[in-house]
Amino acid sequence: MNFETLGIAPALLRALADSGYTTPTPIQAQAIPLVLSGEDVLGGAQTGTGKTAAFGLPLLQHLSKNTSAKGPRKPRALILVPTRELAVQVSDNLKGYSRYLRMNVTTLFGGAGMQPQINNLQRGVDVLVACPGRLLDHLERGTVKLDAIEMLVLDEADRMLDMGFLPAIKRVLARVPAQRQTLLFSATFEARIKALALEFMRNPKQVEV
Ligand code: AMP
Repeated sequence: MNFETLGIAPALLRALADSGYTTPTPIQAQAIPLVLSGEDVLGGAQTGTGKTAAFGLPLLQHLSKNTSAKGPRKPRALILVPTRELAVQVSDNLKGYSRYLRMNVTTLFGGAGMQPQINNLQRGVDVLVACPGRLLDHLERGTVKLDAIEMLVLDEADRMLDMGFLPAIKRVLARVPAQRQTLLFSATFEARIKALALEFMRNPKQVEV
C-alpha cells in the first residue's frame, strides 16, 4: 500500500516524494480514504503517528480541486489547535505538502501582534491554522470571516478541552457553516470527546491507532 493507492493526487505525491515519505502510517492508511470520500472522521491518534498528514493531505486535495481563480481568498479550511507550537508545526507541514499547489496557509495564535496576522488575512487565505482564543479575537474584530469554511479540523481536541477552550471552540463553531466536513483528532475517546463529536459532527467514522 502507498499514497497513490490511497487516492492521493499527483501534485501531493510529488511533495511526499520530496519529503522521503514512502509508506503511509496506520492512521494515514485508515483516515485518508474516508476523508477523501467526504466522511466526518473521529481519529484516535497521538503526536508522532503521522496524524497531521492524515488530515492534511486529503484536506489540501479537496481544496485544490476547485481553487477560486483570482483575488483575496477567504479561508475554506480551518484547523483548530491547542498551542502556538502546534499551529506552527501543522502549518509548516501543510506548506511542505502543498508546495506544488497554489495554496495560502496562515496561522493565528496569541502572544503575537494582531497587525501582522491581519495583513496575512487580507492577502487571502485558503487554510487557517488557529488557536481558539486568538481566532475568537479576530472574529470579534471582524478581521476574519469563516462563512466559506468547507472543512474543519479539531486537532488534539483532548488538549484543547484540558486548556479550557471549550467555550471558545463553541463560539467559533457557531460562525462556521453547518454544511461542512468535520475531522476530530484526539489521543483518547473519553466521554467529553464523544459529546463534542455528537454535537458537532455528522455520522463520524471512527479510526484508531
Ligand atoms: P505527526 O504525528 O503528524 O506530528 O507526524 C510525526 C512525524 O512523522 C512528522 O515529523 C512527519 O513529518 C513524519 N511523517 C508523517 N507521515 C510520515 C510517513 N508516511 N512517512 C514518514 N514520515 C512521516
